[in-house]
Amino acid sequence: MKSMRILIVEDDELLAAGLARALATPGYAVDRVSTGEKALLALGIEHYDLLVLDIGLPGIDGFSVLRRARERGQTLPVLILTARDAVSDRVRGLDLGADDYMTKPFALGEFEARVRALLRRGHHAQSAQLSCGVLLMDTLAHRAWLADSPLNLTAREWSVLEYLLMRQGQVLSKDKIMQAVCSWDEEISPNAVEVYMSRLRAKLEPAGVYVRTVRGFGYLLEEAGNAQP
Ligand code: CA
Repeated sequence: MKSMRILIVEDDELLAAGLARALATPGYAVDRVSTGEKALLALGIEHYDLLVLDIGLPGIDGFSVLRRARERGQTLPVLILTARDAVSDRVRGLDLGADDYMTKPFALGEFEARVRALLRRGHHAQSAQLSCGVLLMDTLAHRAWLADSPLNLTAREWSVLEYLLMRQGQVLSKDKIMQAVCSWDEEISPNAVEVYMSRLRAKLEPAGVYVRTVRGFGYLLEEAGNAQP
């Protein structure tokens, strides 16, 4: 598992940018496409935890994207966006397997709340708590602690640490880490990963949780007892 990844399919550039910004703030990795064709392509190559899907798209419309995704057996939660406040659209969307819908225009706060609810629903079977030594991370409450002290992390630090925690015992390359925590339209360099690692180390090492560098391969999260000198 990696940090939550969301695909936004919306041809209104301004709206798509606003939604992406709103979701990037809590640390989700967000990808954006503007057509149904690109949405189906993205869904075929990447794992997403949620699909935010506009119905009125140029070319293949949102209904068709939803139908094809379900036909392929993709069970991810889907939030449809529709400009039309027609009952028949909502019914059709829900019949095709959408999990929720919003009629434009809507408040960003409500959008964020619905996204959180859908992500929770999608992951309810999965443990929300990750730990390593005295480090505890609650991915649903979006809070972390070192022993009993709250641990403050930036959104990007959170994503990187969550990724390391979910793959304890594995050496993770910079490339893998970058792919897991970044959207397509973001450029972060391998050097940036080093910066996040050094910030995480400064926060974690005093409590005995170590991010070990495996030279030439990547990083490994360990608690004090396992760390090699
Ligand atoms: Ca549209």
